[in-house]
Amino acid sequence: MGEFDLIDRYFKRPVRRAALGVGDDCALLAPAPGMQLAVSSDMLVEGRHFLSTVDPARLGHKALAVNLSDLAACGAKPLAFTLALAMPQVDKRWLAGFAKGLLALADEHGCELVGGDTTRGPLNICITVFGEVPAGAALLRSGARAGDDIWVSGTLGDARLALEVFRGTLQLPAEAFEIARARMEQPTPRVALGLALRGIATAAVDVSDGLVGDLGHVLAASGVGAALNADAVTQLIALGAPASGAALGVEVQRTCALAGGDDYELVFTAPASARKAVEQAGHASATPVARIGCIEAAPGLRIVDASGAPLTQRFTAFDHFG
Ligand code: ADP
Ligand code: MG
Repeated sequence: MGEFDLIDRYFKRPVRRAALGVGDDCALLAPAPGMQLAVSSDMLVEGRHFLSTVDPARLGHKALAVNLSDLAACGAKPLAFTLALAMPQVDKRWLAGFAKGLLALADEHGCELVGGDTTRGPLNICITVFGEVPAGAALLRSGARAGDDIWVSGTLGDARLALEVFRGTLQLPAEAFEIARARMEQPTPRVALGLALRGIATAAVDVSDGLVGDLGHVLAASGVGAALNADAVTQLIALGAPASGAALGVEVQRTCALAGGDDYELVFTAPASARKAVEQAGHASATPVARIGCIEAAPGLRIVDASGAPLTQRFTAFDHFG
């Protein structure tokens, strides 16, 4: 199968909202008047971002999910994406599975594949997503103000648990491992929550490298500091509940929840006066939200326990070159 047959077979579909899709030198998007285009790229490299044994459908899902998560963090509505794919050979079973997982998530979000590039090489997937947001309404990292609450969606730390099981540093009962593994391999981009938070959240970021690191980006961009309630965060690890049978030590739970990475949840800030509105946004988007701290004027991140006493444990964000 040649390059163009492959594209036609697995990736070319009738266009819906785009003005022009796969098949020409460029795709054409027609942004609505008054809207800004939100654009983001994420690359997934074999051995670095995923294990070679991962199910291709799950990999297709994840490749798009991590990109949609960036749109969610901006409060942008997904429109379209491009796919640049390098692979060592044409493996039809792999391609069919990958396209299935990818396009199922794309359809769920009405985000169409409008172009890309296909080449031979070590397995590498790069997606660029395009979304739209009313001019001036995007949620940015720079909007947090002293006194704002800090919120986070969903659960944190479970993806990291799965990674540690793969690394052999941790063991989980089979059922708990499947939950953790699904969190790692098929994250849920919080697009509906991002949209519901327009006009409510003052700042937002998605958690890809761990909560402390990504919240740190908000603090730096906003020129503020924060107190983060480590006990509230630690409770957000789904597998921390005794019912999961995982029997995790508190140090492990804390480290995974605060600095695990690969969560693709939204961490965002909002004034205390907006607590009801935030809860309604969570409800309207069927996304759990939890209040985990507050923004302070003094720079730096203070991680405290429920009584306000500082934690001595250090947490660092994932850094590919750190
Ligand atoms: P060009 O040579 O102009 O870069 P290509 O020959 O690489 O174009 O690709 C032909 C068409 O197929 C283009 O419209 C391109 O956007 C699309 N395309 C290539 N690879 C993919 C892919 N993996 N998924 C979707 N569309 C793709
Ligand atoms: Mg090309």
